[in-house]
Amino acid sequence: MANVGISIRIFYFLAFCSRNAADESSLVLWLILPILYLRPMEQLAAQIENYKKEVLAFTPQNAEEVEQFRIKYLGSKGLVKNLMAEMKNVPAEQKREAGQLLNEFKTLVENHFESFSSLQQNNHHSTQQIDITLPGNDIAIGSLHPLSIVRNKIIQIFQRLGFAVAEGPEIEDDWHNFGAMNLPEDHPARDMQDTFYINQNPAWLLRTHTSSVQARVMEQQKPPIRVICPGRVYRNETISARAHCFFHQVEGLYVDENVSFADLKQTLYFFVQEMFGHGTKIRFRPSYFPFTEPSAEMDISCLICGGKGCNVCKHTGWVEILGSGMVHPKVLENFNIDSNKYTGFAFGMGMERICQLKYRVNDLRLYSQNDVRFLQQFTAAL
Ligand SMILES: [Zn+2]
Repeated sequence: MANVGISIRIFYFLAFCSRNAADESSLVLWLILPILYLRPMEQLAAQIENYKKEVLAFTPQNAEEVEQFRIKYLGSKGLVKNLMAEMKNVPAEQKREAGQLLNEFKTLVENHFESFSSLQQNNHHSTQQIDITLPGNDIAIGSLHPLSIVRNKIIQIFQRLGFAVAEGPEIEDDWHNFGAMNLPEDHPARDMQDTFYINQNPAWLLRTHTSSVQARVMEQQKPPIRVICPGRVYRNETISARAHCFFHQVEGLYVDENVSFADLKQTLYFFVQEMFGHGTKIRFRPSYFPFTEPSAEMDISCLICGGKGCNVCKHTGWVEILGSGMVHPKVLENFNIDSNKYTGFAFGMGMERICQLKYRVNDLRLYSQNDVRFLQQFTAAL
């Protein structure tokens, strides 16, 4: 290849020297020089080298381009044929070397063409080549998140008792989250529900419970009210296996004339039987919540040991699942509901807690880590 370069340079040098000469001898020199300095073998080698680069850079997008490539290089008037024809100009002693170069080039073009032929075939015969008797490829369909499974189940159970689903904003104002729920600003119970506040307005916060939805329902609806409020809530907590800065709750509210604690007990008893299986026992322990009076925590008999005592129930035979009580008259009055005429009950449970008991998940963080190995275990529940 170096020879070709030198020949070209000498040719142009001579051409430059004679460019102003008008005599016949310089004209002859013009005509003869290319033949003298660009000998057929070198010309051929240079051409092949250029074509090689062109071929290797070619990446077709469709069958049409592949066909154009074939015509250009391998067709009856293609470049490979043309180059073969030029063999006759190569001196006899160089024919062997030239032949080798040409064959290598031909093989390169053919292999390159072959690598795209599948693209060409697929496009040409796509309809004929589908074998509809072959089994299809599996498509991963995913599965419901365990919390979604539990939420859906809870909604299903309470809907059968006539409860509607209510939803509200996650960014709340102080009144709906605390004030209306009988948690005035200086109330010590607020300390247990530290949350995240919004910079633009210090009265805005991320709701600490779904009670704020109860407030919004009572604001807009008159009794009878029968709703459950599933949703995400927030607390300013250090993340650990037992605590998280966000989790999920379902609260229920029933306000009507003559609603009693017996209705509360019966409703929750029905829920537990449906959720955890018939024969699951319940018990109530007195408790305190600012928005209910009287208030009670509800336990169910341990699902693992059946009440005999194990690590999960801390050897008591009971596990706590929710808080409940009769709606505090002050809460009803906050929404202009006559507390002498109407009474109501409310309850609230953590969805993660129900999930933990149902699926034996002992680390809260697993629910939001998006680890497929964890989530895949719930596929069967779809
Ligand atoms: Zn137990």
